[in-house]
Amino acid sequence: MNTESLARHLACIDCGAVHALGYRLQCDKCRGLLELVYDLDRLRRDGPGGLRGAGLWRYAAVLPIADPAQRVTLGEGATPLLDCPRLARQLGVRRLTLKYEGPNPTGTVKDRSSATAVSAALQFGFAATSVVSSGNAGSSIAAYSARAGLRSLIFAYERTSAPKLLHMAATTPDLVIYRGVYDDLITLWDRLVEDRLFFDCGASRNAYKHEGKKTLAYEIAEQTGWAPPDVVVAPLAVGETFVAAARGFKEMHAAGWIPRVPRMVAAQAARANAVVRAFRAGGDITPLKIGYTVAEGLAAGDPGRKGAWALRLLRETGGVAGEAEDEEILAAQRTLARTEGIWAGPTGVAALAVLMRLLAERALDPAQDICVVVTETGLKTEAPPPERAGVAFDEASLRRLVVERLGRR
Ligand SMILES: *Cc1c(COP(=O)(O)O)cnc(C)c1O
Ligand SMILES: [Zn+2]
Repeated sequence: MNTESLARHLACIDCGAVHALGYRLQCDKCRGLLELVYDLDRLRRDGPGGLRGAGLWRYAAVLPIADPAQRVTLGEGATPLLDCPRLARQLGVRRLTLKYEGPNPTGTVKDRSSATAVSAALQFGFAATSVVSSGNAGSSIAAYSARAGLRSLIFAYERTSAPKLLHMAATTPDLVIYRGVYDDLITLWDRLVEDRLFFDCGASRNAYKHEGKKTLAYEIAEQTGWAPPDVVVAPLAVGETFVAAARGFKEMHAAGWIPRVPRMVAAQAARANAVVRAFRAGGDITPLKIGYTVAEGLAAGDPGRKGAWALRLLRETGGVAGEAEDEEILAAQRTLARTEGIWAGPTGVAALAVLMRLLAERALDPAQDICVVVTETGLKTEAPPPERAGVAFDEASLRRLVVERLGRR
C-alpha cells in the first residue's frame, strides 16, 4: 500500500451524505463539513507494516493525494516524540511526552496541513493559493506554494511577529497585512472562495487541507509502538489540529492499528476561549469578540463550524477542554526551556500551560501517560533585542567568573 492513496470518498459529518472525491468544501444537501473516508478494509489488511518512506508522506495511504508526483514536500513530519522525565517529575505526572513540532520546515505544525493543501491545489489544477493568517499559516502556505510553483496571496494579522512577517515577505510577493483580528477578515474572505480564483488554504472548511495534520496522530501512534498515550493534549484555535488528530486516532482504531483511542484534551488561550466556554456550559459555541493574546496562533474568537466539530468530538470521546492565561503560557514557556531545553513559542506551549492548570485543578489523572503537542518553535517569537553589553576578560577575571558560576558552593 506504500504509495497508493486509499481515499475513497467525502462524507458529510452532519447528514452522512457521500460525495465523490473532488474539490468540494461542504455538503450539497445540508451544508455540513465534509471528511475524507478511506478504505478501512485495506488498511486493516495491510496493517502498519506496509508503511514506507519517511516524513509526512510515509502516511500517503491515509492522505488524499493520488499522484505521487503532486505530493509537495519540504521535509515536514517525522518530528520527535520526546520523553520529558524532568518536567514530568516537576508536574507530578507518571509519564509525559511532548510531540515537538518545532523541527518542521517553517517551525510549526502548520507544515503538515500546508503539505496536503498545496498538493491538493496541484491535484485540482489551481494556479494560486490564499489564506488568512495570524502568522504561522501564512508563513507555511507561502513556503509550500513557492515550493510547488504556485502563487500565494497571504493575508497576515497586523500584530504578527516580525520573524513571521519577514518569512512571509521572503516567500511570497503577495503579502497583505490586515487590520483587526482573524475573525474580522475570515468571513469576507470565505465568501470569495467560491469564485475559485485561489485554492482555499483556510482552516475552516477544506477537508484536504486539514488531513495533513492527521499525521500527528499516526506519528504518535507509531512512535509508541502502536500503543498511544492515555491522554493527548492539543491546542485549539479554529479546531483544525484538534479535529485532525482526533480523526487520526479514530481511524487507526477503526482499522485495528491501535487498541484504543487516547482521551483528547483541547487547549485554548483564556483570551480566546469560545470552545472552553461552550464545553463548560454544555451548549453551542457563542462567538467572542477578542483582543490580543501572546498565543497569537490561538487568537480566534469564532471557531466556526470546525470549532463545533471539535466540540462534538470532545463530547463524544469524553475529552476535556481547558484554558490558560497569557502569564501561565509565558511561565510554561520558561519552564519548558529550562527543564527540557525545548524553546517553543507561546502558541506552541499553550497546551502545556493548560495541562499544568488541569493537573492543579485535579481535572486529569497524573498517573496516566500524557502526551502534549507543542506546536511551534520559539525562534519565530517577537522580542525586544536582548542586553548585549560585552565583558572584556583577562585570564584572572575569566577564571573568577567560571569558578563563581560553576565552582562548588
Ligand atoms: C494554527 C496553530 C494552532 C492551532 O490552530 P487550529 O486552527 O486550531 O488548528 C496551534 N499551534 C500553532 C503554533 C498554530 O500555528
Ligand atoms: Zn450533509
